Amino acid sequence: MLDRSSEEERLIEEIKKIKKEMGDNLIILAHHYQRSDIVDLADFRGDSFELSQKTAQSRTANNIIFCGVHFMAESATILAGPHQTVQIPDQHAGCPMADMADIHLVEKAWEQLASITDTGAIMPMAYMNSDAELKAFCGRNEGLVCTSSNAPAAFEWAFGRSEKVFFFPDQHLGRNTGNRMGISPEEMIVWDSQKPFGGNSREEIKRARIILWDGYCLVHTRFKTEHVRGMRKRFPEAKIVVHPECTEDVVSLSDVVGSTGYIVKYVKEAAPGSTIIVGTEINLVRRLAKENPDKKVLDLCNSLCANMFKIDLKKLLWTCENIGKVNVVTVPDTIKENAQKALKRMLDLPAS
Ligand code: SF4
Repeated sequence: MLDRSSEEERLIEEIKKIKKEMGDNLIILAHHYQRSDIVDLADFRGDSFELSQKTAQSRTANNIIFCGVHFMAESATILAGPHQTVQIPDQHAGCPMADMADIHLVEKAWEQLASITDTGAIMPMAYMNSDAELKAFCGRNEGLVCTSSNAPAAFEWAFGRSEKVFFFPDQHLGRNTGNRMGISPEEMIVWDSQKPFGGNSREEIKRARIILWDGYCLVHTRFKTEHVRGMRKRFPEAKIVVHPECTEDVVSLSDVVGSTGYIVKYVKEAAPGSTIIVGTEINLVRRLAKENPDKKVLDLCNSLCANMFKIDLKKLLWTCENIGKVNVVTVPDTIKENAQKALKRMLDLPAS
């Protein structure tokens, strides 16, 4: 239990009071990477897939407060009903990886691909961690969205319908999923948006099965092979579990790779007395250690998502006090309709 200041206790009590007054008319959703105080106040916590599912299913509350980063709240707005309002406690809680793929650059890449190959045989796929316009681009072009928990199922779905997948913005999740499917390195190319044809030859583009945008997560690429080797040496009995946004060399040296939701389940179900070293965001790792006192849960290295951390008790209370009024997340209808198609294709994927 963390020691809280009297001011923090006051903020918590105020938020609880508003929650009680609003009853079923307010739902607070929190991503696993949020601070513990925020997660404790949430009605539901989860990874980005679980939170989208929850939004799509929750129709009672008129008000949703989303404690996560902006693309997540935007996806909640797309999946929410017309009577529901989604608010984010801090509009500046963005995701640097989502910002690495811009709609104009993706459309330019698509045009360049069309000059070399038939884009009817390419499935565009946006990682959940992307702007709504990119999800809409996928919806318009028969593609879909995926999260780290359903990327393998989404790639299977895509390859059942097309020859190639154009995946953005996270190259590492795309590559790790391709590796898992047995796709050879020569069949996966990286698209550098600053170079003509992404820096690839016509032959490389024609041969490619997966075209990877060159984006990455700063939090998960902070884990290096030295960290894995160092921890392996110190704790030879431990299992090392990492997120698929890590680089492929870190993934290949680890014992297990899985989404945020999978990591939570893996730690919970591990045998008492076991040691688990986790390569993901530090707030989650610390909470897993606290909630699983019968196991030793350690971080691979201390890696904080500064954007997730922007949301605090003060901002959450301010949002609760200004329900339906401040930091309302909106998405234009034209974008919403196509983005919804791509998100719904993801929600309809068979469970993996
Ligand atoms: S952990 Fe990485 S991908 Fe997730 S919100 Fe933070 S920067 Fe973006």
